[in-house]
Amino acid sequence: MTITYDPKHPLYTDEADVREELTRVYDLCHGCRLCFKFCSSFPTLFSYVDQHEDQDAGRLTPAQQDQVADECFQCKLCYVNCPYIPELHEWALDFPRLMLRHDAMRLENGQVSLRKRVTTQAMGHTDALGKVATAASTISNLVIGAKPGSVARKLVEKTAGVSSVRLLPPYAKQRFSTWFKKRVTPVLTKKQGSVALFPTCLVEYQQPGIGQDLVKVYERNGVECSLVDGAGCCGAPYLHSGDMEGFTKVATKQVAVLAQAVREGKDIVVPQPTCGYILKKDYLDYVGGPDAELVASHTYDSSEYLMNLHKAEGTELDTNFHGTIAETISYHIPCHLRAQNIGLRNLRNKQTTK
Ligand code: SF4
Ligand code: SF4
Repeated sequence: MTITYDPKHPLYTDEADVREELTRVYDLCHGCRLCFKFCSSFPTLFSYVDQHEDQDAGRLTPAQQDQVADECFQCKLCYVNCPYIPELHEWALDFPRLMLRHDAMRLENGQVSLRKRVTTQAMGHTDALGKVATAASTISNLVIGAKPGSVARKLVEKTAGVSSVRLLPPYAKQRFSTWFKKRVTPVLTKKQGSVALFPTCLVEYQQPGIGQDLVKVYERNGVECSLVDGAGCCGAPYLHSGDMEGFTKVATKQVAVLAQAVREGKDIVVPQPTCGYILKKDYLDYVGGPDAELVASHTYDSSEYLMNLHKAEGTELDTNFHGTIAETISYHIPCHLRAQNIGLRNLRNKQTTK
């Protein structure tokens, strides 16, 4: 059994080694149980172990081990809460990254069906898909917007493996980058910063309004905005399906273009927590090197960047808002913001600056 999260390690995808490591970690988690509330992976794991009188995690079948891994959706909440992570404890337990190792092992050893491999690969090409789907948004939205459970959606499920009952965001008529390049660039009276926007696939192809609002707020506050030539999908779809080779290829390219933007004096701003987490953490873990470190240390969540501006000496935010402002709002803290330890930063700042 080898404790490793490095895809280049010779035993990373060795089935016997991975299954022994799963047994070690499942046994530790069964003894700890702290993560019971986060997802169904842990309750499933505990129920399988508890079926045996001696509660030996080594008695789980490979199918039961796989089931636990299949139910992990990489929210990272167990990692954030675990006292036994590599940085803190000799057990060096990183549950989400072990689940990725498991997925990579199954992919490498031909345990993933051809259909799933093909559809995952196709769906992973988010830039190519996004470009086609936005160019033909009327047609793509007819399919995507079809009633959950309808014949059209069942057909998509059969061919692409996307659940027919899942609500899907429609594609935009105009991509964010198209809007960005066509807009009238304002003259900044007091320049307070310079950022390269990493729009993310969601904002680029489906929710450009989020990016447009971001640019308006940033420019109003004297932050110069630009796009990075060559930036595209961060590679999350590959990573989260265990395709480490595919991910590393995409990630290496993104690290190179983003590091160049940082060298030109820009910070990287990301308006979507999952992609932000990938740039800050996964590029370090799976690409590494000085450029990945440079990118990680200059990447900010879009609100995190604004709040830093708010707090820093010599810079200020325009908080003179006009129009109707809601007294209270409901805020769902994204898991991947919690994983970056910035889940409630905006709220805390608001309270402390009153
Ligand atoms: S991941 Fe860590 S905190 Fe969570 S159950 Fe396992 S050992 Fe406990
Ligand atoms: S990363 Fe999230 S989904 Fe995966 S096991 Fe941990 S808590 Fe569950």
